[in-house]
Amino acid sequence: MKILLTGGAGFIGSHLIDLFLKDDHEVICVDNLLTGSLHNIKHHEGNNKLKFIEHDISSYLDYKDKIDYVLHFASPASPVDYLSHPIETLEVGSLGTFNALELALIKKAKFMLASTSEVYGDPEVSPQKENYWGHVNPIGPRSVYDEAKRFSEATAMAYKRHNHIDVKIIRIFNTYGPRMKKKDGRVVPNFISQALNGEPLTIYGNGKQTRSFCFVSDLVSGIYKVMHSDIETPINLGNPNEFTMLELAQKVSNIAGVKLKTKKMPLPEDDPKQRRPDISKAKKLLGWEPKVNLEEGLKKTIEWFKNA
Ligand code: UDP
Repeated sequence: MKILLTGGAGFIGSHLIDLFLKDDHEVICVDNLLTGSLHNIKHHEGNNKLKFIEHDISSYLDYKDKIDYVLHFASPASPVDYLSHPIETLEVGSLGTFNALELALIKKAKFMLASTSEVYGDPEVSPQKENYWGHVNPIGPRSVYDEAKRFSEATAMAYKRHNHIDVKIIRIFNTYGPRMKKKDGRVVPNFISQALNGEPLTIYGNGKQTRSFCFVSDLVSGIYKVMHSDIETPINLGNPNEFTMLELAQKVSNIAGVKLKTKKMPLPEDDPKQRRPDISKAKKLLGWEPKVNLEEGLKKTIEWFKNA
């Protein structure tokens, strides 16, 4: 296949490129490098199956050749990144989604949207199933990301219904692994950098809020399966094992071989209290579930951070 991937120089995008090239697909990576980095795809330098276009998909992209699949993954994704780029985040989740969908329409290509567990907001039910409509503050600081992704989903579904594009929507839950930016502000890179630097781990609020962490290799294998499936409605991809941030801090310290030291910090506004995917749909329709447990994934990530 010839795959056009927006956000291909980002954390998840670059792991997808590894997988696509390994399977001999051709990839056109479109990225404006706002939060992504060429470092993430540098190891493919010289591979003529990968083409890089530095471009912000929020502006129209004129691409002449054929495309079989458009994957729209471009967006700041960590709270620190999207809070410091609020307008760009809204643009890429609205104008960017239109431009990516128009490309798919013109090229008669399939389309995949990288959506997020943030569409569920601060969920009042747990675990979150795909049929839960969410609990999102439409004007809070996180709304630039949450509402942009909800708008993206609505846009993708409208193109599907009205223009008959083959659309897949994946809702990605917290994912971690090599190539996360040390300073992207998310909890896993924060805790790992702090532990490796002998600093206290910053616990926001009381640390009892929960997340469920999926190792990146599990996530990309799930994405690949969705791409090849005939699933027509949004699907959760994530690891259903749920931990508090205090538990995570303890695990990171243990694996890094340091004594746990913590520093309390204020809880960010609208920080979800719990998050855990119900992945029964993915299990049933794709035969997919994560294989890498948190200890194993943290070990690999910590090793990578040590050498990065
Ligand atoms: N968090 C924390 N310490 C940090 C960074 C984050 O306690 O140094 C908490 C944050 O408040 C949230 C959870 O970790 O409850 C996950 O935050 P992250 O930014 O990784 O992603 P989110 O799931 O909120 O998008």
